[in-house]
Amino acid sequence: MTRGRYAPSPTGDLHLGNLRTAVLAWLFAHSDPDGELLYRIEDLDASRVRPGLADRQRADLESLGLTFDPPTVVQSDRFTAYDEALRRLTDRTFPCFCTRREIAEAASAPHATAGRYPGTCRSLTATEQAVRGRDRTPAIRLRAESAPVTVTDLLHGEVTAVPDDIVLRRNDGVAAYNLAVVVDDAGSGVDQVVRGDDLLESAVNQSYLADLLGFPAPTYAHVPLALNADGRRLAKRDGAVTLADLAVRGVDPGDVLTMIAVSLELAVPGESVTLADLRQRFDPAALPHRPWIVSPGS
Ligand code: GLU
Repeated sequence: MTRGRYAPSPTGDLHLGNLRTAVLAWLFAHSDPDGELLYRIEDLDASRVRPGLADRQRADLESLGLTFDPPTVVQSDRFTAYDEALRRLTDRTFPCFCTRREIAEAASAPHATAGRYPGTCRSLTATEQAVRGRDRTPAIRLRAESAPVTVTDLLHGEVTAVPDDIVLRRNDGVAAYNLAVVVDDAGSGVDQVVRGDDLLESAVNQSYLADLLGFPAPTYAHVPLALNADGRRLAKRDGAVTLADLAVRGVDPGDVLTMIAVSLELAVPGESVTLADLRQRFDPAALPHRPWIVSPGS
């Protein structure tokens, strides 16, 4: 049985691109007649979480007809599970005292690889760690091995990369995104991850981490993002891109589902559709691979 999940961060209203990814997560999960789609609230970044957003996101998704299977996981309830996973990795971690700025500077040095941790704190001695620890609480990073790891993605095929020394616990003491995702997916029996293709690169790190923790890696489908007319990732500033904005213009959730279905080549413009219709028509192999260019308000 397939078990997928949709896992928004309650930091802003969902826009058309997020809604389309959620529709795809539902369609992929329900391509299996016994498939389930779980819901997870990714609220670990307390400084960005906005009150009321989690409920509004869920209500928006349900107004499109999306359904979710229990239980709903809330990451801020799961600190014990993350601590326990981190404990199991103790021999493979190191404290990292770097600031963002230090990482950016070291990462721009001639031999560094852009976007990867430059290794600054990997081999500090205990004395050096003690000295640096006097004025900064460290983050905890994974000491990743240098062998490449391959994941298979339903849209992108095989993706191979050397895993990074990712942060497992942030320096404010809270579990980092990659650890939480891996622990939660495994803890909920999720075996299918459908999400935006901006997260494709994290799949290698997450799959590697799952393996270290003895968890099976899920199947991945990183789906194309929605872009604005300039080819940039769709954002709220692009205009009427949330259900609330669109409602003001007389576009109701049914119209939005049609727009999404048209973008997936599962309906023709103006056709009234339900998720059950789309489920009948959906063929993962025929999913358009290009991004969805959205002209807000259209
Ligand atoms: N919470 C992440 C987001 O809203 C998604 C993480 C994931 O699906 O793994 O972008």
